[in-house]
Amino acid sequence: MSTPSTYDENNIFAKILRGEIPCDKIYEDEFTLCFKDITPKAPTHLLVIPKGAYLNIVDFGKRASKEEIDGFFKAVSQIAEEQNLSQSGFRSIANTGLNGGQEVPHFHLHLLGGKKLGALVGQ
Ligand code: 5GP
Repeated sequence: MSTPSTYDENNIFAKILRGEIPCDKIYEDEFTLCFKDITPKAPTHLLVIPKGAYLNIVDFGKRASKEEIDGFFKAVSQIAEEQNLSQSGFRSIANTGLNGGQEVPHFHLHLLGGKKLGALVGQ
């Protein structure tokens, strides 16, 4: 198995974006969707995804428009403040490809908080 190089239109987040699978939505705008992770690893565990079809953070940075990139990170800031993550602190993670342990091949940023988190990288 290797890091995929083409976007799979049937990945689970693409299905969520098309409304084929429900999600617990936290935030939505023209470019970005944020919802709760189905298997939370912290009291607050959100996933922020662009609406465009991007495989991972590298693909997003390379191919997304300035509006999409700007919109995505403005949304991250707004969500972090609205969800009370900003003041107490939180962790944002973009697992990427095979070594990064990425399971869903649509770029997503994990926002984890609500408690003091442990070591960044497990064994
Ligand atoms: P990755 O390992 O790709 O960085 O993270 C994928 C995340 O998506 C995991 O934390 C997993 O719990 C979450 N996830 C997988 N399937 C679903 C789903 O159908 N709905 C939601 N809300 N989260 C999902």
